[in-house]
Amino acid sequence: MQKRYYPFSKYLKETFNKKVYKITLDGGFNCPNRDGTISSGGCIFCDETGSYSRCNCSKNSIQTQIKESMLKLSEQFKAEAFMAYFQSYSNTYAPIEKLKEIYDSVFFDEKIVSISIGTRPDCVDKEKLNLISTYKHPWIEYGLQSANNKTLELINRGHDFECFKKAVKETKKRNIKVCAHIILGLENETKKDMLETAKKLAELEIDGIKIHMLTILKDSPLAKIYEKQPFYLMNMEQYAEIVCDILEILPPTTTIQRIAGTGYSETTLQPKWVNRRFEILNLIDKIMLQRNSYQGQNYICKKD
Ligand code: SF4
Repeated sequence: MQKRYYPFSKYLKETFNKKVYKITLDGGFNCPNRDGTISSGGCIFCDETGSYSRCNCSKNSIQTQIKESMLKLSEQFKAEAFMAYFQSYSNTYAPIEKLKEIYDSVFFDEKIVSISIGTRPDCVDKEKLNLISTYKHPWIEYGLQSANNKTLELINRGHDFECFKKAVKETKKRNIKVCAHIILGLENETKKDMLETAKKLAELEIDGIKIHMLTILKDSPLAKIYEKQPFYLMNMEQYAEIVCDILEILPPTTTIQRIAGTGYSETTLQPKWVNRRFEILNLIDKIMLQRNSYQGQNYICKKD
């Protein structure tokens, strides 16, 4: 079925003219919001794995992680090329020499056509961005979660929206593509707040987005909060409706990198439906068809 939004897989096919798959890597980094540098305890939704990590293990070298994944993805999906994606924790949180050594190590095979680095917006500087801009087709994925500063404080992000905005501008200035991660259903957030986040991301013309439903993970600070005082969590239909609203607000050129996922069901305490990926994707398709709407339909371009 033809999607009414711009899937990342389509962007990869159009850009590289072949089947490109992401290889998730563990570079052995930490996070300044977990090790006490910024705050104690980290983001309240984050568990020990550095949030939603489902990747290779840092016990293996980067090259071993890549080789194993290349083999699997080529056999399973006939993948022809790959994007090396540093997923867990903050993958720019190290001295520049160390970063260079780690990033350099992914380009040992010409089938690696791009690099994507997940990090926090307060964990980059000009020197690090200059380095990243030297690699093939570089992307940076910034965790934002919400553009509402009160929410960011509540979830203990340790940075505000202005910090994110500044990082995005510096990153895009260097021709590095930006993907933003957001969470829907954060406690105290209304639909208006969530759509406001989408509008602000649309204004920044981000290149990609990953949308998550707030998930209460075992052993996260949020699990303790929820256990003491359970709060309302959206159901699948409510989530899908808001995702469609967001797709309509975003520019048609923003690549949609995630709107549903398959987490580890054993670590997901609530809501259980978040791991029913295909059901969520089908529901989003159905709602957009019923509305006869498309990504970008309500996008307001503020450029001259
Ligand atoms: S920045 Fe990422 S790794 Fe660090 S505490 Fe927050 S979600 Fe976890």
